[in-house]
Amino acid sequence: MINIQSIKAYSDNYIWLITTNEGNLVIDPGESQPVINYLQKHTLTLTDILITHHHFDHVGGVLDLKKNILGNVTGPLNHQIEGLDNHVTHGMEIESCGLKFEVIEIPGHTLDHIAYFLNDSDQPRLFCGDTLFSGGCGRVFEGTHDQMYESLEKLQKLPSNTLVYSAHEYTLANLEFAGQVEQDNQDISEYIHLCQQKIKDGLPTLPSSLEIEHRINPFMRCADSHLRQAIAENMKNSKTATDAEIFSYLREWKDSF
Ligand SMILES: [Zn+2]
Repeated sequence: MINIQSIKAYSDNYIWLITTNEGNLVIDPGESQPVINYLQKHTLTLTDILITHHHFDHVGGVLDLKKNILGNVTGPLNHQIEGLDNHVTHGMEIESCGLKFEVIEIPGHTLDHIAYFLNDSDQPRLFCGDTLFSGGCGRVFEGTHDQMYESLEKLQKLPSNTLVYSAHEYTLANLEFAGQVEQDNQDISEYIHLCQQKIKDGLPTLPSSLEIEHRINPFMRCADSHLRQAIAENMKNSKTATDAEIFSYLREWKDSF
């Protein structure tokens, strides 16, 4: 049994809560109060906390929540993050609430950024913080564009049915940009309608899946000939550019969009 719930924090953060027969864990609790409220309402006790990177809107609730957890707090090898019990690095496997997560280092947005991959053969799931968003990717604050591109490539290689749990509700704004990049991409316009309906119904647009992202997310389509064709008018060498160069072009464009 696995149940995954989103808890809203700040204006557009999602704190993911995973419940199994063996306990409850949260990923990136940027605030404690929304988590405490949810746990109280559903009479749940927090077992573990997982952290993807050091930004305040992902770690702000850790010290407060830590007072009442049964297990521990896991995060990247960054001593700036207060309250961590375990530091994990690329390729490590961690166990929480009976689930096994693989750690994938994905620097770019920050240098310490990691993702947690829940490698269940029936339904793989990825908790990727601020690196991969539905329809977009995180801003490159600490790393280089090349690093960010390589990080997204690592995620591309996961099974295509992997569900994607990002940490922000940015989907519609990202899709607006995606629709500008590829104006005749039918998958994007259809997905915009689907996500608009979800938002109208008060539902998160997440999780997405890698399969969906391959079709609608420009940052996951750098190798795609349709995308390269679509930007040919603005990026002169778009047909011969490397995938990483296409990524960098798109990231700069999005930064000023
Ligand atoms: Zn961040």
